[in-house]
Amino acid sequence: MLSDDDVLRAVREEIERRGETSAVASPGDAALTWHPLLEGEIVRCVEHRGEERRFHAGPLDLTGRPEYETTIGLHPLPPPRDPARERTWRLVRKGSADHRTCDCGNGQVACGRCKGAGGIPCEPYRPCGACGGVESCLRCDGTGSPAVVAAEREDGDRVQCRECGARRAACPGCHGRGRLRCAVCQGAETRPCPDCAGDGTVEHRRCAGTGTTVEWQEGVITRSPTVTAVRLPEAGVPYLARQQARERGAWTPVHLADDEPAPAHFHQEFGPDLKELFRAHDGEIARRVTVRSTRIARVVVADHPHRLYFVLPVPSGGPHVLVLPSRKRTAQLAAAALGALVLLVFLVHLVG
Ligand SMILES: [Zn+2]
Ligand SMILES: [Zn+2]
Ligand SMILES: [Zn+2]
Ligand SMILES: [Zn+2]
Ligand SMILES: [Zn+2]
Repeated sequence: MLSDDDVLRAVREEIERRGETSAVASPGDAALTWHPLLEGEIVRCVEHRGEERRFHAGPLDLTGRPEYETTIGLHPLPPPRDPARERTWRLVRKGSADHRTCDCGNGQVACGRCKGAGGIPCEPYRPCGACGGVESCLRCDGTGSPAVVAAEREDGDRVQCRECGARRAACPGCHGRGRLRCAVCQGAETRPCPDCAGDGTVEHRRCAGTGTTVEWQEGVITRSPTVTAVRLPEAGVPYLARQQARERGAWTPVHLADDEPAPAHFHQEFGPDLKELFRAHDGEIARRVTVRSTRIARVVVADHPHRLYFVLPVPSGGPHVLVLPSRKRTAQLAAAALGALVLLVFLVHLVG
């Protein structure tokens, strides 16, 4: 871990490296503040338990399933070995399985469309498309009785009438009958019901045609991981300084399992934000904390107030020094840029 002296020495060397005279001779020449950093993740295993009534159409063997007594909330399970692992248990409450014969008896019920008859009404005849039922036979007009038509007329396209027997008198479409027998029912006035294919019965939906049902009380336990990113402090360290620390800094890894408390210095360094991050979630039964910590120094040298020096420990060799413009300097630069823009706008207006 870097000491105050290490930091000030590194800043002094950085100033000399820039070809400037060192202005950090005594501690009063520079203001040094330490900024602890913490990052990583917390993986929590969150458990949910619930019960519901289950129904299954048809036979179902529940004997191989794990059972629980009275209430799922009291069912004992060992804690998870790996909090990142997702798992679900489906259990049957002891003695709750109810295998029944369905009210239908055999899985079949009367067809709703034909009311169990197997057939539905059908038109026995339809009008002849060729003559429309008019002058289907020049002799009898479909009645079979020659008296109906007074005068007999000859027509070359006509055929023999099947009702009265007159030659070359009948419509070729219906042979004198004026209508055609229904091809579906053959004039029987009923056709097979399309819903039951003429059987009069259909599969009972509730039991899926099996004639049996099973009901039971199911208890479900799920364990699923939730991952929370750790990045403290949330503010107060410039992005570039944090990025440099992340990419090249030396960090101390910390692994905590379940109830292991965070190191005491974490609480001093990060206070309420750490407490909030480490707070137990609803249903949390296990956790794994994988974080790393470091601290970087921020130095302001009295002779160079427009600069910020960030000094970070690196895995090997001397500390790394990052130089950033101070917030005051940044504001000055921004103001200068804005001033230039205002002047430009002013000039444009002047010329226009
Ligand atoms: Zn039917
Ligand atoms: Zn006829
Ligand atoms: Zn006809
Ligand atoms: Zn018909
Ligand atoms: Zn049934």
